[in-house]
Parts: sequence; structure tokens; C-alpha cells
Amino acid sequence: MAGRILIVDDVATNRIVMKVKLAAACYSVEQADNGHDALRVARETKPDLILLDIMMPDMSGVDVCRALKANPETSGIPVVLITALSDQDAKMEGLEAGANDFLTKPVEEVTLLARVRSLLRARDAVREIQGGNDTVAAFGFAEDAAGFSAKAAPGKVALVAPGPRGAILWKTAIEDRLGGTVAIIPREAALTEASTDSGASTDVFVISVDLAQRNEGLRLLSDLRSRAGTRHAATLMILPEGDTERAAIALDLGANDVLHDPFDAKELAIRISAQLDRKRQSDRMRASVRAGLEAAVCDPLTGLHNRRYAIPQLELMMSRPGPGPAVMMLDLDHFKHVNDTFGHRAGDAILKQVAARLRTQLRNGDLLARIGGEEFLICLSPINHADAVECAERLCRSIGESPFDIEGGTPPVQVTASVGLTYPVDLGGFATPEMLIHEADMALYSAKSHGRNQVSMISDTAA
Ligand code: GH3
Ligand code: MG
Ligand code: MG
Repeated sequence: MAGRILIVDDVATNRIVMKVKLAAACYSVEQADNGHDALRVARETKPDLILLDIMMPDMSGVDVCRALKANPETSGIPVVLITALSDQDAKMEGLEAGANDFLTKPVEEVTLLARVRSLLRARDAVREIQGGNDTVAAFGFAEDAAGFSAKAAPGKVALVAPGPRGAILWKTAIEDRLGGTVAIIPREAALTEASTDSGASTDVFVISVDLAQRNEGLRLLSDLRSRAGTRHAATLMILPEGDTERAAIALDLGANDVLHDPFDAKELAIRISAQLDRKRQSDRMRASVRAGLEAAVCDPLTGLHNRRYAIPQLELMMSRPGPGPAVMMLDLDHFKHVNDTFGHRAGDAILKQVAARLRTQLRNGDLLARIGGEEFLICLSPINHADAVECAERLCRSIGESPFDIEGGTPPVQVTASVGLTYPVDLGGFATPEMLIHEADMALYSAKSHGRNQVSMISDTAA
């Protein structure tokens, strides 16, 4: 995952030292020696990450960070502040300005590279959700499109610490500064949550690197990362002061952030809030991608699946061992006349009710899709011949047996349907979904020409 990194520092030697380290790890590097240039280069080249010196003559790194975060073009680029000071206030200011982390000069290589990997991985995860391109935006389901801008629910934070005392200290330290709930949970409870499929309720896990045993927090971290229930939760690992080696390991294992004990309560709270925001943002993105995909394969009028969904689904049914699926095309009779007489709205109302009636006649594994204006595709998972015919008859009857309600005080309208059925006993390995649909269409044509409101069939055995 090579990436492009922008180094901003007014001292040339600092830039060169950093550049050598990053280039050795195969990152490509761009440079700027002042804040204004940094903002311009960031806008023009959209680097994957910015390493930003705090002390610069023209503009402080914190101000540059604030400006980057305020511009939608650059607000998504992760920023790591580099500081020569161990001034806690400056660090807080930087984190509050939206920086992802700060590192102290001289920057230690292991820590730097682990942080860079971790931030680039987070960026890749976002791109992966977005489908690696602009598909999400193209579908019109970009972030915040579907009413997600509603106020975010308060976050749930879980603390996993070696003993109750440590955890209570953390809890009291951060509770007042964070909205939402902060719970102290044992390692086992975190693992239980990890194993549920329903999705974790915890948004951020704060874990001590050592629990009852040394490195047990690291092992818990890997578990949370790899299991379905907690994969999307954020994790923040707390390590003893100076333990940079295990901090790098934690980041590589997937921790979203690390912090060394003893820490400033305010700092922990800011870092947790940043992770809560990030998690909410990716939750929203996943939800909108899901909504987008669903919309792409569903028919908005009837809620049934559409052709785009149906064809690969039929292909899947055909690929299963054993007899192939029974395939039907159902088409409403003289529907143009219904529209012409009662209006398009009445036609739409009838189509919805048709979909509902058909749905109640089918089993769970069957496929029902609206693949044309008044044409429905029905594919039945393994079924014997007589049952397939019986089902086709039942579907046909379910439309014709009782009239459909329409609005406007008009009496219910009688509508019938014709069904073409093909039931190949042996697909011979050559059939495609299109071929089966074509056969069902031929059968449908025959049902229409024999007077409509009936089932007609083609099968290999009859052919
Ligand atoms: P046949 O029995 O031969 O199938 O006759 P038909 O009139 O049903 O067939 P034709 O293909 O000539 O016309 C289909 C009609 O279905 C045309 C259109 O008015 C109607 N239709 C297609 N899609 C929709 C829709 O989404 N809403 C409504 N209200 N009507 C639709
Ligand atoms: Mg028709
Ligand atoms: Mg038609």
C-alpha cells in the first residue's frame, strides 16, 4: 500500500531525514517548507498523509492543520503533527484541530512507520467501502444523502483494563468529557460481543496492552479485529510510557490509536471522540453503500427484485447440482387496456397488488422479480414436475380469481395473467439464464395465443 506523503518542515535537514526513512519504505514523498505552500500542495496533489511540523515561521502547524480540515478538498487527509516540544497544551490544541496524532522529534523510525501504515490502512478501508472509485457518489448515495445527517446517537465506549482500579480511574477521567456511556467490561465480555453476528454495540474499545497476563490486551485486539461482531468497532490501546515497540505492534495489529500511560484525561477523551467520529462516518458510509446496492437491485414500485438481480440469481440456482430450477414468465393480460381505461396510477396500484399476491404464493428460496413493465420472472428452487405445473396454475389463478382495488371510487378491476413455464430436467451444462428465460417466453407466447389467463409449458421431456 505505497502512498504519497507530504512532509512539511521549514528546516531542510529535518525534511531530508524524514524523506530518507519514508523513501526506504517505498513511500513517495513531496515536500513543502512553509504553511502556505503546504496548503497549496495538499490541494493540488491530494497526498495520502501529511507530516506537519508545528513550529514554522509563517504559520504554525496547528493553524495549517485547522485550514486543511476546514477545506472539504483536504479535510479527509490524515495529519500527523511533528513537534520538538513536549508541551502538552500544544498537543491538545493540535488534536483538537483535527490532527490524527503527533510525534516528538527526533522521530523514531519504528513508531513513524507503524503510524503511517495504520493511517494509510484506515484510508484504504474507507476507499474499499466506497468501492475504490466514485460508484457510491455516482449512484447518488454519497454520504449524508439518505437523511443520515440526523444527530448521531451517543457513542458507547468500553474499557478493558487489568484490574478494576485502573479502569475506574480511566472511566472517571473521561466520562465527564464524553457524551454517551463508558462501561468497564472484562476481557471475556469483549470476546462474547466479538462472536455475535448482530454487530457490536460498542463503538470504541479502550484496551490495556497487559491484562491478567502480559500481552493479553494485544491478543484481545487481534480477536476484536478479526471477528464479525467487533470488526468495525474502533480500538485504542493504552501502553506503558516509552513502550514504542509494542505501540507499533498494536498499530500493525489494527489498533486505530495508541496512547501511553500516564496520560492526560483530556487527551484520552479527545482521542476517543476522534475515533467515535471516524467510526460514525464509516458506519454511515457502509449504510449508504448498502442502501445504494439495494436500490440498484430493487424495483421501487413493487419492492420486488429487478432484472439486474434476477439474472445472476437464476444463474446461481442453475449452478447447483441436481435438477435445474423451473422458470416462469408471468405477463398481465391486456394491461395496456387497463391503463387506457383506468389510468396509469390505477395500473401502478394493480402492479403492486399483483406483486404482493405472487409473493404469498412462493416459498423462501424461490426467486420473484419484476423484469419488465407488467412481466414477472419466477424461478422455483428444486421441485418436481407436477408441483412446478401446480405452482404455475396457482400463480395464474391468484391474479384472475379476484379483482383489484383501485382508488377513486371505481369498482375493483378484473385482471388476468398468462404464464409460460419451462422445466428442463437436464440442463446439459449448456443452458444460460437467457436461454431459459427465452424458453419461458416462448411458452408465454403460446399461452397468449391460446386465449390468455392460462399456463403453457415447454420442457425438455416434452420437446
Ligand atoms: P398482452 O396481453 O398481449 O400482454 O397485452 P398487454 O396490453 O398487456 O401488452 P403490451 O405489451 O401491449 O402492453 C403492456 C402495457 O403495460 C403497456 C403499459 O401501459 C403497461 N405498463 C408497463 N409498465 C407499466 C407500469 O410501470 N405502470 C403501469 N401503470 N403500466 C405499465
Ligand atoms: Mg401484458
Ligand atoms: Mg408485456
